[in-house]
Amino acid sequence: MKYIAGVDIGNSTTEVCIGGINENGMLKFLASSSIDTTGTKGTPSNVDGIKKALAIAMNKIHKTINDLSIIRINEAAPVIGDTAMETITETIITESTMIGHNPDTPAGAGLGVGYIYPIHEIEKLPKNKPYICLVSKNIDYEKVADKLNGLMEMYTITAVVVQKDEAVLIYNRIKNKIPIVDEVKYINKIEIGMKAAVEVAPEGHTITQLSNPYGIASIFNLNADETKYVVPIAKSFVGSRSAIFIRTPKGSVKEQSIKAGELTIYGEEQVEKVQVDLGADSIMEACNKATPIVDITGEKGTNIGIMIDNIKENMHDLTGDTNSVKIKDILAIDTLIPVDVKGALAGEVSMENAVGIAAMVKTEHLPMEKIASRLQDETGIYVKIAGVEAVMASLGAFTTPGTKLPLAILDLGGGSTDAAILDEKGLVKSVHLAGAGQLITMLINTELGLDDLVLSEHIKRNPLAKVESLFHIRMENKEIKFFEKPLSPKLFGKVIVMNDNRMIPIDSKISMEKMMEIRKTIKTKVFVKNSIRALMQIAPDNKIRNIPNIVLVGGSALDFEIPDLILNELSKHKIVTGRGNIRNCEGPRNAVATGLLMSYKG
Ligand code: ADP
Ligand code: MG
Repeated sequence: MKYIAGVDIGNSTTEVCIGGINENGMLKFLASSSIDTTGTKGTPSNVDGIKKALAIAMNKIHKTINDLSIIRINEAAPVIGDTAMETITETIITESTMIGHNPDTPAGAGLGVGYIYPIHEIEKLPKNKPYICLVSKNIDYEKVADKLNGLMEMYTITAVVVQKDEAVLIYNRIKNKIPIVDEVKYINKIEIGMKAAVEVAPEGHTITQLSNPYGIASIFNLNADETKYVVPIAKSFVGSRSAIFIRTPKGSVKEQSIKAGELTIYGEEQVEKVQVDLGADSIMEACNKATPIVDITGEKGTNIGIMIDNIKENMHDLTGDTNSVKIKDILAIDTLIPVDVKGALAGEVSMENAVGIAAMVKTEHLPMEKIASRLQDETGIYVKIAGVEAVMASLGAFTTPGTKLPLAILDLGGGSTDAAILDEKGLVKSVHLAGAGQLITMLINTELGLDDLVLSEHIKRNPLAKVESLFHIRMENKEIKFFEKPLSPKLFGKVIVMNDNRMIPIDSKISMEKMMEIRKTIKTKVFVKNSIRALMQIAPDNKIRNIPNIVLVGGSALDFEIPDLILNELSKHKIVTGRGNIRNCEGPRNAVATGLLMSYKG
């Protein structure tokens, strides 16, 4: 038996497939392995990872690297993905017009509208108006409750705003149950005597009236122009458990655009310019017009300029020649990032518009020969660069049961989404597009405001759950799971992500339902969009319906939602789409490495 190895070096993962060839020249697949790529794809630092992956796979058949007669590595597609994020709006509060926040324990539920005054001033006021009471931190909650009960005999009190964290303590002691919001830090800055509205949502819900521009308009009798003006306020209230809106004559909340800069897209035939703050659709439209893209630059001195230069600089380290680093594709995605509001009264955050961008750099040529010769030197085994990545991936995907030619693959990786089509004559057409698994992880990280990429990766890959008591959790599919031993009190009330049987708490005030929605939307925006983009470019006559079947391969095809999202979209075109099952045993993994062995046999 002669042993051969196929090695696929990806942006994220290095995969190995080991085959044996017997005296009759028959190829048999024997083992496989996969580990994280060491260093940047296409650089000699990949060799360490390759050797490790080879050793793991050979060990599975009780052999060592020395038993190999040949190692085949692919001519890796010279594309490397990178991601970045740019905020394009900011919300500034002038005067004290709004407080929308998520104290852990507001009390009561519903909407209270009235004129806002400190609690001790109300008895001097006329009785024919409704009032909202302000309670500053130097009054004891029992005294507050007594005072409120007294006032309620004569006055219409509709809501209470408290500085300390005492909403529940006060609520439990008052006779008429009204909404109470607490933890309003800068209560002294609130303008006295203004008409205001306080809303607290029932437990497990978010507010509905103040997060709706027309809801605010109805309460304050706003005309159409004034209503337009409150949109940023309503927007920043979305998803809150409680909110306060105060109408001051001068006060305003401004949502202003940040000068994000201009992108210039150099196409083979035309040059397109687009302002980044116009958002993702405009950016993508400009890219489409300029396709095929030769290079992309960002306006010097602006955020986008710095971002694009950084991406190119990273790649420059790889090739050693700045001029050869060209951005061949970008995927822009509109997103929302929680940002601290300037001038806020209770530490509010507002969801600002941002654009996430994945860029794909194409270098003239990846120095695969360097990898090959180093690998050969270090192992003493003959190393051959054999075949183009897309062709190998198609060959490998074709081992999925139930497929026939012509066959298209969508390789959903970390840095890029690749597509290829293989026909009966063995011809292959392929494309590489920016935006894949890493972009999803980055968007989850920023939209949830986590600042933790490892946790974001867990959230991408695994279902969520809510710890409802020390003995049970509610999974995101509504299933309840009970435990005999109590869970850690640290987890109580938290949204967690399940990783195998480990529970990782997520430190965020966003509800589980909202997190699920964010996760799914991001996956759709990246992979459904990219699948369509990619298939349009490789399909005969640019019509997706001309592709009979599509096999999903690559790490992101392992995702528990992404294949279904793509399937739903493509089923509209009556195409058979599904997750690959390479050699009927690998799932969507190992396509390229498998293809490398198949091509050896011929
Ligand atoms: P490449 O070929 O570029 O090395 P891969 O095919 O290995 O890329 O895919 C890497 C991507 O797959 C990463 O973004 C990673 O987060 C994602 N991934 C790996 N396993 C899973 C999983 N179980 N669920 C969702 N995504 C996954
Ligand atoms: Mg790959």
